Amino acid sequence: MNTQYDRVVTTTAWSPGPGCHGGCGVKLYVKDDKIVRVEGDYGHPWNHGRACPRLLACTQYINHPDRILYPLKRVGERGEGKFERISWDEAFDIIEKKWTQLKRDYGPESVIFIQGTGRDIGGPISFLCYSYGSPNWTQLGLAGQSCYTPRLCTMVCVQGDFAVADCSQFFEKRFDDPRYELPKYIVIWAQNPASGCPDAFQGHWIVDCMKRGTKLIVIDPRWTWFASRAEHYLQIRPGTDGALALCMLNLIIENEWYDKEFVEKWTYGFDKLKEEVKQYTLERVSKITWIPEEVIYEATKAYATNRPSAIHWGLPIDQVPEATSVSQAINYLWCITGNLDVPGGNVIARNAWDITQYPYSTQQLKDVYGEDILDRINEKRIGAKRYKYLANMRSWGQPDMAVQQMIDGDPYPIKSAWIQTSNLFGGQAADMRKHYKALMNMEFNVVVDLFHNPTTMACADIVLPAATFMEKESFRSWYQPLQLIQPAVTVGECRSDWEINFELAKRFNPPLREKYPTFKDFVNERIKNSGMTWDDLAAKGGWEYPTEDKWPASVPYRRYEKGYLRPDGKPGFRTPTGKIEFYSTLHEEYEIHPLPFYVEPPESEVRTPELFEKYPLVMVSGRRSPVFFHSEHRNIPWLRECDPYPDVEIHPTVARDLKVENGEWVWIENERGRIRRKVKINAGIHPKTISCMHGWWLPETDGRSPNLFSTWEVGCNVLIPTGMQARTGYGGNAYKTTLVRIVKMSEGTPCNPPVGVWGKR
Ligand code: SF4
Repeated sequence: MNTQYDRVVTTTAWSPGPGCHGGCGVKLYVKDDKIVRVEGDYGHPWNHGRACPRLLACTQYINHPDRILYPLKRVGERGEGKFERISWDEAFDIIEKKWTQLKRDYGPESVIFIQGTGRDIGGPISFLCYSYGSPNWTQLGLAGQSCYTPRLCTMVCVQGDFAVADCSQFFEKRFDDPRYELPKYIVIWAQNPASGCPDAFQGHWIVDCMKRGTKLIVIDPRWTWFASRAEHYLQIRPGTDGALALCMLNLIIENEWYDKEFVEKWTYGFDKLKEEVKQYTLERVSKITWIPEEVIYEATKAYATNRPSAIHWGLPIDQVPEATSVSQAINYLWCITGNLDVPGGNVIARNAWDITQYPYSTQQLKDVYGEDILDRINEKRIGAKRYKYLANMRSWGQPDMAVQQMIDGDPYPIKSAWIQTSNLFGGQAADMRKHYKALMNMEFNVVVDLFHNPTTMACADIVLPAATFMEKESFRSWYQPLQLIQPAVTVGECRSDWEINFELAKRFNPPLREKYPTFKDFVNERIKNSGMTWDDLAAKGGWEYPTEDKWPASVPYRRYEKGYLRPDGKPGFRTPTGKIEFYSTLHEEYEIHPLPFYVEPPESEVRTPELFEKYPLVMVSGRRSPVFFHSEHRNIPWLRECDPYPDVEIHPTVARDLKVENGEWVWIENERGRIRRKVKINAGIHPKTISCMHGWWLPETDGRSPNLFSTWEVGCNVLIPTGMQARTGYGGNAYKTTLVRIVKMSEGTPCNPPVGVWGKR
């Protein structure tokens, strides 16, 4: 041991800290009870020592002078920024008293539980929500629940399981495992995995494949590092991915590039799909997507005729209203080409030992929350009656309906919000002003977070300090391996989300005290399929993969041939027909179209030509920066120095026409509002599109209302609509397709850019 450090703790990164969707093995170096150095764990098969900038900056994050260290109670008016320190007991007493009164007066459904993206938050928040008795757990602000949910639900409906691009991540020895085969092509569809932090997937895995010979096909409106190295680059019009996927299916069928044996034996509804996709001709789809016909043709041929090949897809697929249909079409691409659950294709992604971090199945929910839990949830859950599809899928309330109901109280009042690690106004909330109105309409708001931000300042009545991953006990069972998160230090009185929610949940559901005296008892129960306890797993180094002899359902490949996927043990897939459903019987049952189709984005030159005349640029929001995760990290000096300003990427011809220069502040506006951004000229973006990173707020400016850290001035979600979800209840409005115009600021316009903190103007 180097004497510079008192100890080194090996653990798993899962936000808060880097903010990630998690999984990296990490080493935390501790000196005098402070973390002084963070690095990737070379022995961990997920990242092999690699670490992203956000992880490396965790020393600044955990020890940041602005961390909220104690529970706080608001003492001034909302927005005044006046809080006083209280004890945990006092905070829990206040919450318990208020929610008991609300339950009595309005029913438990009057409290809504709101989570952000990332973090190991689904478990703790659902635990609290259902223990209190509310059916309303939601990702408020995320219009149409448009972050992976549409893709996940689609995969469950049409193939019975999730699948991901196979970069050998299901094997401990990774690329050296003899069962693995390299993909000939990887299609990167709508993502920049080098900058982002995809769900349970690492961008550098694709680079590892490239180094070994895999070629790329990249579909993205914006030229990325991966696009620059692709064999085929398809610069697509935002929001038209569905048309492209349907055209690719048509080409594959027409040219007989599909896997006939697989289709014959393992699929249902091929003839109907074949008929349906005939309308998506190359000529038509080239016009819709702006991609030249020959580029679509060659890319499709390359993908379909080189097996194995894999598709790695991203968030924009969820961010159009008909997101499930787009997902369905893309999902069929890897099925029809015989690339499902084969080495180097799209591998079925089961968790290790099928362990879930919190109860998913009906029986698991009943075991934990009582026999009547599903009736309770579905009776009052927001959106469950209107959307049959949503009612049968993930147990979240419909967010666009929720925000409306918080404002007008129809069909029943919502009186209180629990907001856990979700900076709504800085981050995910489309139509931010509407969400502000909704939260200000609540009688009582509790916010759990690590730093003050626009949301805590605007509307919190109680603030509870959350711990980073470096301070907490938790576990991760998202695909594989099964991993522990183990604390290295404590900071102030910060507590893990699990700890906070467990304590409060037990106040409303006292039998839980006996059932789970400690959090580790809960974990031990959840991971029992593995045959290990927390301590066993810790003794093995904190992570473990399942083996085929003991748990074959979790280990690739071709599990459908061996009867490992279906509950009845028969060969096939976990769908009603036991086959891949090209015609979805579940869609039919849930009253949505059983076959995939394409619909024009809600705002576009085709669908709303008058609006387009006024606002002729398509704003794509959501571009990822390697140094930020959504609205996090704007206050971390090392990171902010790398990406100091809220910018807008525009094509050189747009800059020329507007007579604006690189680095100049401009207005971006539409009928919903106006924000300011700094011009960044990028020849890699289509002249008709602009790119605005979401999640911007300026922590160096005044946090009090009405400024709220400048969130209204720079947050592009001001411009994005809500309430356009499809018949599924899912689908993300116009995060990628909002029409806007750019206006040059006139001489002397006051625009209050941040000064001097993280660089010059
Ligand atoms: S943000 Fe992604 S790369 Fe960084 S530590 Fe988390 S999982 Fe690893």
